[in-house]
Amino acid sequence: MRHFSEERCADFVRGVSGPEISRDIRAHLETGCPKCQTALDSWRRVRSLATEEAAYTPPENLVRLVKLGFASQPAKQPRKWTLASLVFDSFAQPLPAGVRSGALSVWQVVYEAEGLTVDLRFGRRGHSKELHLIGQVLDKQKARASQSATVELSTEQDQLVGATSVNASGEFQVEFEAKDHLWLSIKSEDRNTVRIPLTNQI
Ligand SMILES: [Zn+2]
Repeated sequence: MRHFSEERCADFVRGVSGPEISRDIRAHLETGCPKCQTALDSWRRVRSLATEEAAYTPPENLVRLVKLGFASQPAKQPRKWTLASLVFDSFAQPLPAGVRSGALSVWQVVYEAEGLTVDLRFGRRGHSKELHLIGQVLDKQKARASQSATVELSTEQDQLVGATSVNASGEFQVEFEAKDHLWLSIKSEDRNTVRIPLTNQI
């Protein structure tokens, strides 16, 4: 089965696909492809995070991490951790200017370590320092979402900026102010903490 690329999915969500590709995508979705449906759903959420600014109500599982340095206690990093490897890095592409939101850039990176695949989709409005991140943690062996991982954002000095947990689909959402040397840590049972540097995303 031929799937659609992230770029095609993002274009479709933005409404800038040509009529032919749009028709192909709709036909493909009608076959019930979970891979492409998930990609489209993620891009829709990134898109809506950036376009519904005025009416924006954070969902329950969204942690607002805008006030960096708010928490001053050191993050409790277990001694054992594994640096994740970057396996995919998408384009960073500005979206057409919205009515009042300004252009949105969206990009995706995928990291792997400890048998986990961590899919990170970033959205940023114009030159805003605030980044929206929608992530999903997948267990490669079980080929399903990790349902019990904790996600922490911390500074290079191991200061905890914020923490959240993945939902039943292995997803989490974070909003934070762009800053150098931030680390994302994925903690789950029976494996080392997976650490991902966010420096190159900012
Ligand atoms: Zn597909």
